[in-house]
Amino acid sequence: MRDTFDVVIVGGAVIGSAAAFFLAEALPRGARVLVLEADPSYAHCATTRSLASIRHQFSTPENVRMSMFGTEFLRQAGARLEVDGAAPLIGFVEAGYLFLATPAGWPVLQRNHAVQRAEGAAVALLGREALASRFPWLATADLAGGSLGLAGEGWLDAHGLMQGFQRKARALGAQVRAGRVTALQREGSRIGAVRLADGGVVDCGVVINAAGTGAAALARTAGIELPVQARKRCVFHFRSPEPAPDCPLVIDPSGLYFRPEGAGFLCGVAPPEEEDPECTDFEVPPAWFEERLWPALAQRVPGFEAARVLSSWAGHYDVNTLDHNVILGAHPAIGNLLFANGFSGHGLQQSPAVGRALMELVVHGGFRSLDLAAFGWLRVLQNRPLRELNVV
Ligand SMILES: Cc1cc2nc3c(=O)[nH]c(=O)nc-3n(C[C@H](O)[C@H](O)[C@H](O)COP(=O)(O)OP(=O)(O)OC[C@H]3O[C@@H](n4cnc5c(N)ncnc54)[C@H](O)[C@@H]3O)c2cc1C
Repeated sequence: MRDTFDVVIVGGAVIGSAAAFFLAEALPRGARVLVLEADPSYAHCATTRSLASIRHQFSTPENVRMSMFGTEFLRQAGARLEVDGAAPLIGFVEAGYLFLATPAGWPVLQRNHAVQRAEGAAVALLGREALASRFPWLATADLAGGSLGLAGEGWLDAHGLMQGFQRKARALGAQVRAGRVTALQREGSRIGAVRLADGGVVDCGVVINAAGTGAAALARTAGIELPVQARKRCVFHFRSPEPAPDCPLVIDPSGLYFRPEGAGFLCGVAPPEEEDPECTDFEVPPAWFEERLWPALAQRVPGFEAARVLSSWAGHYDVNTLDHNVILGAHPAIGNLLFANGFSGHGLQQSPAVGRALMELVVHGGFRSLDLAAFGWLRVLQNRPLRELNVV
């Protein structure tokens, strides 16, 4: 007899595991939830290679709301995700984001600030002098000011959050199996089963595509073109002999970003669109730090002139090429195939909100807590981008 599950989730990293947790919690006892993961080491997925940070500073109200729920969840994660008295190690540090702006970028920061305040985010605009006095290690001569998160923003242990979701989902009855899904078996306007690389077939009530950068290939097997591509991002861990006390996660107008990590710092840079091809290798280009990052770091924080790289790695964003926002929910042609793809660099922090949203779509047939319909397929099919301006 073939295996049958009420919900099959393809991809077991942070999005798949969050969905499994919320579903296992909400579905009636006896409901069957299965997570299929191609690489149970999670060595290469975006979740593991993430900078693992959370901010409320977006330009799209729904993104602000999703991250605010993310913060709420992280603050309670110990209790929500404990299993047999053991809480997951999530290491949430609420140290804020600081978006810097030159005079040219200041009006955009002000507009975004108004959106964030309207959603209840604790953010403050600091003029250049306030910035210089609060962060004396920062070079501010070319800046108009910055937007600082006062509460709820910071960073965490991404792997810890993923493991926490998955462990709790299992404790609540969800199954997690190793296996690469090679095809979604379409039967008209529904998916009847998923096919596995080992020849296995699993019948399903609902399928969730949580396959990250593998999501477009998976969708194609059901005849759906998902505009999601892998784009490489490199992260460097460095030491600085000069401290930068109370350093938040700083976003520089040049695209550079950095934040503390242990006794050192992590940094990276968002490349311009024309230098950001689809890419699936994990090589950190030689001299990338010296040529692209170091000059910008030293310019913004003179104390970083003596920075020394300790390690580096590359990972992949699953970029939604239409508008850098998640594509969430069912495609109109296939009612029982739910998508949660194209996070474009902000999926970790959205995992609690998206996991809950997927649960609501499965259990209630619609959004209940946060209305995330704006992230649906309609705007993709109608080519109406819901563009997020604060992409990092
Ligand atoms: C360098 C970097 C920095 C980042 N920084 C941040 C940040 O600061 N804050 C933030 O919120 N986000 C950040 N992100 C983005 C965030 O990490 C991702 O949006 C998020 O982890 C996506 O989770 P996911 O579960 O959808 O995908 P992934 O973590 O990529 O996982 C997808 C999983 O699906 C599996 N899979 C794929 N295809 C199949 C298949 N056919 N069958 C079975 N399994 C399959 C894969 O093996 C993988 O485990 C960053 C990403 C990178 C690369």
